Amino acid sequence: MSETPIFSKVALLGLGLIGSSMAHGMRRAGLTSHIAGYTARPETLERARVVGFADSLHSDAASCVQDADLVVLATPVGSFASLAEAIAEHLKPGAILSDVGSVKSAVIRDVGPHVPDGVHFIPAHPIAGTEQSGPESGFAELFDGRWCILTPPPGTDKVALETLKSFWRALGSDVEVMDAHHHDLVLAITSHVPHLIAYNIVGTADDLEHVTESEVIKYSAGGFRDFTRIAASDPTMWRDVFLNNREAVLEVLGRFSEDLSALQRSIRWGDGEALFNLFTRTRAIRRGIVDAGQDTAAPNFGRGKKKDQ
Ligand code: NAP
Repeated sequence: MSETPIFSKVALLGLGLIGSSMAHGMRRAGLTSHIAGYTARPETLERARVVGFADSLHSDAASCVQDADLVVLATPVGSFASLAEAIAEHLKPGAILSDVGSVKSAVIRDVGPHVPDGVHFIPAHPIAGTEQSGPESGFAELFDGRWCILTPPPGTDKVALETLKSFWRALGSDVEVMDAHHHDLVLAITSHVPHLIAYNIVGTADDLEHVTESEVIKYSAGGFRDFTRIAASDPTMWRDVFLNNREAVLEVLGRFSEDLSALQRSIRWGDGEALFNLFTRTRAIRRGIVDAGQDTAAPNFGRGKKKDQ
């Protein structure tokens, strides 16, 4: 890990899970001399002050970005356009403007037009997270061993791009560069649609609960419990993800629905071979993820044997 500051001042707009984890990570690696944090609501600002990961806290985004060499948008994606507009004329010439949003084409569409000449706009997405939110939920290790995808628009300054790569590597991530459109499709299948499925199945179970009273909760087996963890993710963030990655999500959902119909047919016609073949194929994918170091092979996802599990 680097002990040399890469930036004199970093401004984090948004102090939730990702913003606060970046602050902890920057402190761990000594990446900057000054972390400035902005969040809109006074309650959140006070909570961030209590945790103490920022050198200065601001309720005004424009004053937060003053003199910053790196500015990171870390609020829900739907708020990026108005934030970018509010800070545009206060950005330091030569600064890097980045973000951590879970979608990328919409961010380029919404933020790009506000970026002044001389400011390097390089969108980023750390593929790391938990279902927790807020300033207390962050931790320095969040990005360790996780990918961070950068989606520089055509013509991005090479030096600025290398600087941002070094920054994410120093936070513990492996860095990949790809086109924003490709990012959105990859994330639709690996993250967005799985979240939608979790929200849907937990909603269905909740509707069913009115029929079965508390049995859905009482007898919830591992599979359902794991869906409820994902479906506990922040509603605002995920609403914005689906509103801003509509095409890729709908494309993947179309494929998913066709495959689900095929499974339905296999069950109806008692085609055990088709079921067995699919389940064997998917088990191998799980092994691949564990072998790639992206998850643990420990039973029950490495969770301890608690009484309530
Ligand atoms: P979070 O914990 O819910 O924190 C969100 C932050 O944004 C808070 O500081 C909140 O402050 C502020 N905020 C909320 N609505 C706002 C608005 N309309 N205008 C201005 N500020 C607003 O969220 P997070 O999980 O850190 O996510 C932040 C970003 O990271 C999102 O764009 C998300 O797509 C991306 N991301 C998330 C994950 C994940 O797993 N969570 C992973 C990768 C990327 P107030 O309370 O003051 O409103």
